[in-house]
Amino acid sequence: MRKPSEKVSGKGGQSNSKKCPPQKRPSQGSVDIYAAQCQECLKWRVIDSQEEFEDLRQNITEEPFYCNRKPNTSCDDPADIEYDATRTWVIDKPNLRKSPEGFKRSLVLRKDYSKLDPYYITSSGKKLRTRNEIASYLKEHPEIKDVSASDFDFASPKIMQDTIPEIVVKKASAKKKTKISNGDNRIEASS
Ligand SMILES: [Zn+2]
Repeated sequence: MRKPSEKVSGKGGQSNSKKCPPQKRPSQGSVDIYAAQCQECLKWRVIDSQEEFEDLRQNITEEPFYCNRKPNTSCDDPADIEYDATRTWVIDKPNLRKSPEGFKRSLVLRKDYSKLDPYYITSSGKKLRTRNEIASYLKEHPEIKDVSASDFDFASPKIMQDTIPEIVVKKASAKKKTKISNGDNRIEASS
């Protein structure tokens, strides 16, 4: 059952000034939902495809996201998704360029949630992990026109610390503790 939509008048106040690039969530190592936050009502809207998401992302500063950029949606509709720790959220760099045609950008989350590693997949399924790999691939494939190595971006999104699963956080802090206790901080009185 869905609650009837509560009308929230769109006043963002100060929080509106915060940068809200579209976000994604990694699950089991990769992203499975794309979302963008409305600058007016601050609700999150699910973006149906990676391509649409990349379209929005590439001009997000010049053309901020509003609910009505999603078909048949307005600020009066309930949020598609809530920002909370039931999933891990990561924020892409705003205005990150769209993947060149024939390439798909993908992200792998490290097991310790420390970082997402971006890579590109070619139409033949080859994974390219660095700009150098891209450059040599383009060299080997002169039939790919109007694409240069600078069209690819290996910036990794920011992982929202407050949405990292507790178990991972615990492990990380256990590590830290070990480190601290390794230090010799005993003070002994001696004469
Ligand atoms: Zn809205």
